Formats: sequence, C-alpha cells, structure tokens
Amino acid sequence: MHGPDLQNVEILAGLHCKKEKGSKPVLVTHNDPGVEPVGPESGSRIVCRFCRNYITAARAKIEMRGRHTHVFANPAGVVFEVGCFSIAPGCRNQGEMSAEFSWFSGYDWRFSLCSQCRAHLGWYFQSGTGNGFYGLILGHLDELFDEEGRKQ
Ligand SMILES: [Zn+2]
Repeated sequence: MHGPDLQNVEILAGLHCKKEKGSKPVLVTHNDPGVEPVGPESGSRIVCRFCRNYITAARAKIEMRGRHTHVFANPAGVVFEVGCFSIAPGCRNQGEMSAEFSWFSGYDWRFSLCSQCRAHLGWYFQSGTGNGFYGLILGHLDELFDEEGRKQ
C-alpha cells in the first residue's frame, strides 16, 4: 500500500469524516442505473477493513478525471486517499445530498457507510444527470486476492 501522493493533494473544504448531529440517520437504497452488478465471485474482492463485509470488487474500479486514486485533504489537515468505484453493493448511503465543497465539481455527495458495521467508508457522488460513483477511503478497505494470488 503506497502512501498519499502529496504532490497531488487537493486542498478543499468540507467532506469531513464527521457524524451528523441533530438529524436522524436516514437509510436510502442507492440506485446505480445501468451498471452491471458485481458479486463476490467477480475477481478480487474488496472488503471493509473493520468487519470484512464485502463492499465491492476490483473490477468495479473506475477512473474519474483520468485517475482511479485521488488524494484529498480537508481544512483540518486530514488526508484521504480515495479510490473511485462504479458501484459498491456493500455500502449504504446516508444523509441528504450536498453540493457543498464537493471534491468532484458537478457532483453532489453524501456519506457512504458499511452496510454491516456502519463504518464511514467514503462518499457517493452523483451528478445532476443522475450518473453516480463511489469515492471510497482506501485505508478503510482491504483488497483480497483471488485464488491465483494475483492482484488486479
Ligand atoms: Zn464494515
């Protein structure tokens, strides 16, 4: 696991790893129209580091703005190394969509939690046209090797 690419840290406000206060959490099933489901049988599995819940698969990795991995920092100096995924069946998205301080311009975001242990795993980004993707904190995930021991 390589460390954050500090030369490409994008200093932006917002998207703190915070718990929402004063509002009752609302679970809303995410909707990924037109995206093929990814199951645990589909190559390398990516699981929650905290509870081993299946989250997504290596083949769901996508590039946004030309890169799969992005490094972001918030004003508190917390650095997140985030990988982009087309879908993440093991995530549950929480809270209202927000356009504030989005790391990806043109996309609103909400929190994505592990559906099993509720750990904060990242964010779900959705554009005005309904296209969405997940930006997941790589340090909160483990990628499991397939039977051949090859990493994608
Ligand atoms: Zn978990």
